[in-house]
Amino acid sequence: MSFQVQGKDLLGRIGTLTTKSGSFQTPHMFPVVDPNRPVLDPKFYREAGIKAIMTNAYLLKRGRPGQLPKDVHGTLGFKDTVATDSGAYQILEYGHVGVKPSEIVTYQEKIDTDIAVILDFPTGFHSDARRARWTVDETARRADEALKRIKRKDILWVGPVQGGVHIKEVARSAVEMGKRPFSIYALGSPTELMEAQRFDVLVDMIVAAKNGLPHSRPLHLFGAGHPAMFPFIVALGCDMFDSAAYALYARTGRYLTSDGTYELAQIEEFSCLCRICDSTTPGEMRRLDSDEREQLLSKHNLLACFSELRRIREAIRTGHLWELLEHRAYANPAFEKFLAKIVQHSAFLERFTPTVKPRGISHFGEASDHRPEMVRYGVRMSRIPGERGKAVVLLPGRWRRPYHEDPRNLPIVSKLANRANVSICFYTIPFGPVPMELDETFPLAQTESFDSHDPRIYEQKAEQVAAWVKRLSPKQVFLISEGEYGATLGKELSGATSNLKVIRVQAKGSKPDRTVGSIIRRLG
Ligand SMILES: [Zn+2]
Repeated sequence: MSFQVQGKDLLGRIGTLTTKSGSFQTPHMFPVVDPNRPVLDPKFYREAGIKAIMTNAYLLKRGRPGQLPKDVHGTLGFKDTVATDSGAYQILEYGHVGVKPSEIVTYQEKIDTDIAVILDFPTGFHSDARRARWTVDETARRADEALKRIKRKDILWVGPVQGGVHIKEVARSAVEMGKRPFSIYALGSPTELMEAQRFDVLVDMIVAAKNGLPHSRPLHLFGAGHPAMFPFIVALGCDMFDSAAYALYARTGRYLTSDGTYELAQIEEFSCLCRICDSTTPGEMRRLDSDEREQLLSKHNLLACFSELRRIREAIRTGHLWELLEHRAYANPAFEKFLAKIVQHSAFLERFTPTVKPRGISHFGEASDHRPEMVRYGVRMSRIPGERGKAVVLLPGRWRRPYHEDPRNLPIVSKLANRANVSICFYTIPFGPVPMELDETFPLAQTESFDSHDPRIYEQKAEQVAAWVKRLSPKQVFLISEGEYGATLGKELSGATSNLKVIRVQAKGSKPDRTVGSIIRRLG
């Protein structure tokens, strides 16, 4: 087995996972196939380029009582990678499964699966802390038992992390399982959380798991199947997930898109142009008999998932995964909370984000302040030694970048930049203060932003600029004031607590040459 990473952004990554039956790209969603009631002809998966599917070893065993185990690829009519779940989810639903943990390990080997899950003990959604603790210990115990029994090294074994909503337990479980030699790790039973849209808890769970597990191995999230949430879980470091949602939603006439779920009954036109939607209309689809409709809807739903995975991979390649998260957050209030929670872990995300990206980034507003590049900039700013006791010249950072190349700034900068007693700083919307030293570093010159003329943003950014200026204890401050931002900054600088000597020059109506002349005269 090998897991090779080709690209990273935030905690998300593009990788290739190789099993004994072939390779597939991650992030990947395993479509879950009911072995006793397959909805789609396996031919469809092949045609759609889906190279790995998942089924349930326990249901397979139960559906064939008394029969000898048969190759799962043959049973499903699928020759590429097949992953099998162990039936742990059924434990969660029915309390017991009537099969021993060791039995299900051997069974998965006999049916020649490619990726197999040990029979863990799901914590579930409603367990209290004590019960959660027990499920974590029991899962670790079962893991040891399974590892002793495993004979086939050509199968990739999955070690599930439990703990449920008890984040400390998830963290403990991740460290425990991480010590054991599994090829893949998985995070258990968040399905109910996702259904209840408790994305805040889900974020903490994934971060806790990711923190404790070895980063060289892929992380699987059980039961995530709505394309709208894929960017978020990928951004947190989930490489794979599995779901039957595409089929379950189809059964009840629901149409999945990256923006949300729609009722087929209410759709007038398909905006999707997948091979299904392109060849029929919502009206025609409604008139089909229920089996046929379920099939077509399942196919569209699945293609919507895979189209979203492509979009995510492309976002990782261009370094724009954060932009995708913000885009989704604006589209749906539930996802706004999802992003707000992710923002709380921005320092963690920062550690994994490449320092240089193939393209510039975008700054849309407040949420963008927490993207890793901005967090990193804040840290870099705080480390600049900044000589004290100089004169500080504050210039407006407009759309032109680097900021000093703005034709209205250049005449001033070129006459002052070499003076030992002057420190130049631009006040900007995306970054707040930008000292001359950082003006040409990534991603400052490559950041797209806009001025929303929001007084709150001006205040926030002016505060940051003022804090930077105060840190330098300057002899005097020259503020080339422009617009409302400049006025807000002026107020902030001459605030009651500060003893700064601020000299204000209006940018509007004064020529840069005259401005710099008057600054030089005053510098003495
Ligand atoms: Zn479609």
